[in-house]
Amino acid sequence: MTLAILASRALAGADAPAVRVETHLGVGLPAFTVVGLPDTEVRESRERVRAAIVNSGFEFPNGRITVNLSPADLPKASARFDLPIALSVLLASGQIAIDDGKGEVVPLALQNMVFAGELSLTGALVPVRAALVLAMAVSREQPGATMILPSANAAEAAWVPDLNVLAANTLAEVAAHLMGNARLPKGEPRAWNQMDAPPCLSDVRGQPMARRALEVAAAGGHSMLMVGPPGAGKSMLAQRLPGLLPPLTRVQALESAAISSLTGQPATALHRQPPFRAPHHGASAVALIGGGAVPRPGEISLAHHGVLFLDELPEFTRKSLESLREPLETGRVAIARARHAVEYPARFQLISAMNPCPCGWRGHPKRPCACTPDQVARYVSRLSGPLLDRLDLLIELPATGTDCLELPPGEPSEAVRERVARCRALQQERQGGVNARLEGAAIDAHCELETDAQQLLVKAIQRLHGSARVTHRVLRVARTVADLDAQPRIQARHVAEALQYRCRLG
Ligand SMILES: [Zn+2]
Repeated sequence: MTLAILASRALAGADAPAVRVETHLGVGLPAFTVVGLPDTEVRESRERVRAAIVNSGFEFPNGRITVNLSPADLPKASARFDLPIALSVLLASGQIAIDDGKGEVVPLALQNMVFAGELSLTGALVPVRAALVLAMAVSREQPGATMILPSANAAEAAWVPDLNVLAANTLAEVAAHLMGNARLPKGEPRAWNQMDAPPCLSDVRGQPMARRALEVAAAGGHSMLMVGPPGAGKSMLAQRLPGLLPPLTRVQALESAAISSLTGQPATALHRQPPFRAPHHGASAVALIGGGAVPRPGEISLAHHGVLFLDELPEFTRKSLESLREPLETGRVAIARARHAVEYPARFQLISAMNPCPCGWRGHPKRPCACTPDQVARYVSRLSGPLLDRLDLLIELPATGTDCLELPPGEPSEAVRERVARCRALQQERQGGVNARLEGAAIDAHCELETDAQQLLVKAIQRLHGSARVTHRVLRVARTVADLDAQPRIQARHVAEALQYRCRLG
């Protein structure tokens, strides 16, 4: 054979499009060219491939070798093509022969196989970034395919269903497997982490309204802003939200681990607990939203299927805050690049917190506030109206004194989680998703109000000078309150409770 074609995968955002590695061995002066607009990394791979072939006991063929990575317009900044390039050179030069029984080489035998792995100069395989993302794309688009990966990556990829994952340590091992001289072992999946013990809600003393609001947020998937002085328990409450949410499904846990693997950390465990991310307000917009020279997902994507906690919300840069708006609506974030726009999933539940004023003590019964009305207004105005309009629950937390330590412990997370799970099951059955994501006609269809509830809502929205967007927020929250109460129609008391979670800032 003078032409060999193998399959691999590129990385584009959280997706891994198919790449064909085509290698042709022609006559002429010795040359080794890689075409298909590869980046510097791929050109460097030529040197690694050459050394790995020689050091694995093969010969580097004499002649004109042309490698084409197709399609040409995919981003290919990675060494993961080393293994398929080296194998295709060995196939094209006849050093790996796949016998069809009649002495002929059969290229089709490799059709349902996908290869990825970096080579060291010795011919050993080095793990690649985001193998889980590659494996999930292969499983989705070529179910039943065989993937040959470096051993460390095979352990991650083995979690993925509908995929036959084989683990290899060297180029020579892969060659021996293809020729039928030896069998590569199957990838052994690492443990499936059942549940870390999350902090318990019973640690939070007092704050009955905030605890209830947190339960409503958990039940309906609602975003929330807590306003209160330092020490009121805002962070404690936020940290306890993941423990109130239903555990992730296997698919969600895989998606979550796949996003983490894009940051370069190999996934070592699958977590059933929803992720909790709490970036500092000093974090850059890129760290929060994603991006960079080699694009990486940001905190909002690492919080996919989980909770994003932004403490001291007004201290985040305006750019960061404004770029939250789109993912809050769509559950995705698009990052514009010079040549390739990439997209990451970002379906997170936003929990945020802020002080009532720059010094923090405004409205406190004992500590005086040192801020002028002007300073307070400026502080609050850092949060734009459009961002506030996208938050479902805005609640005020009163200051707590030392006397709250004498209160009995509150209800534990487990009891709340059971109610949340029942409420979520109800929403799933009715509309196939959480109330926070009800839109347009679905709001009319599923948020039926009793007459007095309707009147109460209309009056309150007039008083609040609320927009249609705010009306919908209140309705969605009222729907969740009614669901927790197991009532098919929204009653006046449900609307009244939802309106309590619309405190005014400043
Ligand atoms: Zn103040």
